[in-house]
Amino acid sequence: MRPIIYLLIIVSFTITSCANSQVKQANTVKMDSTNKENPVFSQQDPAGKTDTSKAEISNEEWKKILPADVYYIAREKGTERAFTGKYWDHKEGGTYYCQACRSPLFNSNGKFDSNCGWPSFFEPISKGSIIYAPDNTHGMKRTEVMCGKCKAHLGHVFDDGPPPTGLRYCINSVILDFSAGSGGEKAKDAEKKIDNKQ
Ligand SMILES: [Zn+2]
Repeated sequence: MRPIIYLLIIVSFTITSCANSQVKQANTVKMDSTNKENPVFSQQDPAGKTDTSKAEISNEEWKKILPADVYYIAREKGTERAFTGKYWDHKEGGTYYCQACRSPLFNSNGKFDSNCGWPSFFEPISKGSIIYAPDNTHGMKRTEVMCGKCKAHLGHVFDDGPPPTGLRYCINSVILDFSAGSGGEKAKDAEKKIDNKQ
């Protein structure tokens, strides 16, 4: 009996260690990238005052319109827990829309497998689909990304993404609405590139 018990202990310890290291890795990636100047922000919006909003609605109105979890992310700039959203590991070809205003934000061919626990994209569907703002909360220097149409908080962009942009748009699943369609082939290529790196 004893060897079996030892084996069970070792197996359970290994599983726990893997889970912990994965979480640590995700945290490390996030922390490391926060101290760098973000290239997107400086190139496109050095003043942080870009206003391409076409759906300016008060938070009170949004609260009536949006489900509580979407409101929390979109208007209170919340963050869903890593590996809990429905799109972090989603590989289907199609388009990701803003859950608040249905504006198209990302194509699946701009998505890649970052394994950070949130859906990650290396480029938005178009330049105007996203707006940027500096975010110095929580003791970090980050660049917030918002919907170009309704200014819903989407997540943050970091400069540790894959080619060709080198960017990682780290987005909350809750604020995304997916529609299946074309655009899945390039996403697979991007995953392969990441795998080769490891
Ligand atoms: Zn929107």
